[in-house]
Amino acid sequence: MIRFPSDIKVVKFGGSSLADAEHFRKVKSIIDADKTRVYVIPSAPGKRYDGDDKVTDLLYECFRLAENSESIDSVFDRICERYDDIIRGLGIDLDLSSEYQHIKWAMLHHAGRDYAASRGEYLNGRILAEYLGFDFIDPACMVKFFDNGTFDSELTNKRIGEVLANHKNGVIPGFYGSMPNGTIKTFSRGGSDITGSIVARAVLAEIYENWTDVDGFLSADPRIVDNPKKIKYVTYRELRELSYMGASVLHEDAIFPVRFAGIPVNIRNTNAPEEPGTMIVSQTDYTDPDTVITGIAGHRGFSIITIEKAMMNSETGFGRKVLEVIEQEGISFEHLPSGIDTMCVILKTDAIDSIKKERIKNSICMAVNPDSISIEDGLALIAVVGRNMVKAKGTAFKVFKAVAEAEINIKMIDQGSSELNIIIGVDEKDFVSAMRSIYAEFFK
Ligand code: ASP
Repeated sequence: MIRFPSDIKVVKFGGSSLADAEHFRKVKSIIDADKTRVYVIPSAPGKRYDGDDKVTDLLYECFRLAENSESIDSVFDRICERYDDIIRGLGIDLDLSSEYQHIKWAMLHHAGRDYAASRGEYLNGRILAEYLGFDFIDPACMVKFFDNGTFDSELTNKRIGEVLANHKNGVIPGFYGSMPNGTIKTFSRGGSDITGSIVARAVLAEIYENWTDVDGFLSADPRIVDNPKKIKYVTYRELRELSYMGASVLHEDAIFPVRFAGIPVNIRNTNAPEEPGTMIVSQTDYTDPDTVITGIAGHRGFSIITIEKAMMNSETGFGRKVLEVIEQEGISFEHLPSGIDTMCVILKTDAIDSIKKERIKNSICMAVNPDSISIEDGLALIAVVGRNMVKAKGTAFKVFKAVAEAEINIKMIDQGSSELNIIIGVDEKDFVSAMRSIYAEFFK
């Protein structure tokens, strides 16, 4: 196995951190401030202001126009102008015009949607490498996908290790890699986070720093709760619960490679580098002196199937038969709260149209002959998440008290035995007030 120094950091900068020359300068001073920040993963330039376009979106637009045999000239020129603006603003000696020509030609000759999108990161990486004086390393030679388009994590891990062993430092564009036949393939949107994570794993980095435009993870959605507290430490498991419910800073698939290797992730703010940000770790003894929970997250858009049947608890195979119906519809269920004679299945509303609903009801009736069955939309779920809840008494009481004080009816309760979270379901119209009331109860 190739050995890398034990103290290296892999640093990823998001699109807003590399949107213009001013941000590139901030990035350079962050890199210069710590010599162990040796492998840098850039995104494509993001929005500079409200209403601006992300370069990746412009590239997708070029692809669309080219496929419709429409002119890509004006959109493509805007993209080149964005990069030239950065180059001019930094005062570096770099001419990308032959790259632009080549990319345009390839787009007009059907190089593919992923190829088009990937050029955002590629060009930004070229500029950043030049500006930092780092090696430019094209991920196409080491981030690998299988023929069926899924990510080949083991081959990638090996290739990155081999390639980076020859580079003391490097800028590695995020978001893309290649298929066995060499065609460019991207991850899903926001996928530069994944590149950062897999590079961190391959070099066994001490830490994976993910630089963005917020001070880290917040304990609640700032669009719902005013000025929510920043989270200092969150475990991977807590993060998964919070992200699933809609708290998003990091791409979901970016968690697994670093988690697997036990590498902490530090979410940092490029515009406020003095802030420590949020540390995402496997385990921590840290306890917030003010509250027992780590965060609250929630989502609208759930439906609940309620099935009742007397003596359900003694009917072997009841649950399996119900879930088989859901499986046959190709739907995965979200939660499964149950009582002695009731079973509820919670699904995402957008997974079931009215035809599917009727079919599900009929099939469940045929399968288990219930006394009653109903499907109700308009459910919002709220997860109260915290690793320290296990040790604390009265957490559930506080959740219910907060919701009761807001005069809101709880329609469903779900607490796993891991005691990592308590999930409640409320009517969508009560979602915001329930979130606020629970937040106030735990963070006052
Ligand atoms: N540029 C890509 C996107 O906008 C990937 C990324 O920024 O992570 O989705």
